[in-house]
Amino acid sequence: MQSAKVVAEYLSQGLTNKLLPDDVFLIMGCKHAAQNILTVLKGSESNNILFPKPGFPYYEFLARSCHLEVRHFDLLPEKDWEVDLDSVESLVDENTVIMVIIKPGNPCGNVFTHQHLKKVAEIARNLRILVISDEVYDHIAFGKNPFVSMGHFGSIVPVVTLGSLSKRFIVPSWRLGWLVTHDPNGILKQHGVISLSHTNIISTSFKQTHKCIAQT
Ligand SMILES: *Cc1c(COP(=O)(O)O)cnc(C)c1O
Repeated sequence: MQSAKVVAEYLSQGLTNKLLPDDVFLIMGCKHAAQNILTVLKGSESNNILFPKPGFPYYEFLARSCHLEVRHFDLLPEKDWEVDLDSVESLVDENTVIMVIIKPGNPCGNVFTHQHLKKVAEIARNLRILVISDEVYDHIAFGKNPFVSMGHFGSIVPVVTLGSLSKRFIVPSWRLGWLVTHDPNGILKQHGVISLSHTNIISTSFKQTHKCIAQT
């Protein structure tokens, strides 16, 4: 619990809706966080999930292993790899459950502006889909745009942010990451996503991480 409190405080910097330790699930790295949330949210096999193109191939693999249909929305090179919101709209149907964004982007390295992320949140709200934001590169932001967490927009649409120590602190073998719910309106809780996530989580701690390293 103490580690969750520290991570909640660290990730709350600059957020209007401060995180509580209960919003933070510590887990074995960002990939594991992604696996956890996709497993929890996959629902029925006819559901589909939206990923950015270009994107991080690991997500495709995860989605397919969860039997989710994968659909791709475009990132626009001429607009600094912003999300093509029209392409998101055209892909969504009643079986779309999640939209994933990666920011700062992998592989494009772009950093979305506050204004653009607000638009993404609004469109996700209108389309009634959850936003998962992979923020493993938080604060490794190059160029003119500062890093803005998608957690800022949790009051518009429920957001789950994923992150870890590995990239920012350059400790790829430390298996410590987090899955964080930004949901001030309690929508995820209402739908049981949080309790499901609790049952699915394998909790980790710095002690365990050190033990893993010592064993390898
Ligand atoms: C490297 C990477 C990850 C994996 O993070 P770990 O904490 O090492 O599991 C997740 N997402 C993206 C976009 C990455 O580039």
